[in-house]
Amino acid sequence: MNKIIAVDFDGTVVTHEFPEIGKEVPHAVRVLKRLNENKVKIIVWTMRCGEHLEKDAAGWFEEREINVWSYNTNPQQASWSQSPKCYAQAYIDDAAIGCPLIHPENGERPYVDWLEVERLLEEQGFLDKIKT
Ligand SMILES: [Mg+2]
Repeated sequence: MNKIIAVDFDGTVVTHEFPEIGKEVPHAVRVLKRLNENKVKIIVWTMRCGEHLEKDAAGWFEEREINVWSYNTNPQQASWSQSPKCYAQAYIDDAAIGCPLIHPENGERPYVDWLEVERLLEEQGFLDKIKT
């Protein structure tokens, strides 16, 4: 079974500029592509909806050639749960307690520290360790 990770959008893969698309958070694209390479299914788990989701956020992933399994839902859970929470083995979200964050010196809102998240993903077996 492939592993499943739910990934937030604003403040996680881009900086907080909703409804605009923020700047790419450093290393997010590279680590998301590593998840693809490691056959981890990515669910984008976001408050975005309508065109902010279907056009803007989905377009962001398409432009970067990141495969997204699903948006705001786990397509396989309807047979065993009616809950609106999407099932994943891990959630990466700037609002999650304990999520590694970078606090910009300019006072802007913090965003996810993907280098540290990458280390955790390797430690927890979502990513193969890169041999050095
Ligand atoms: Mg967020």
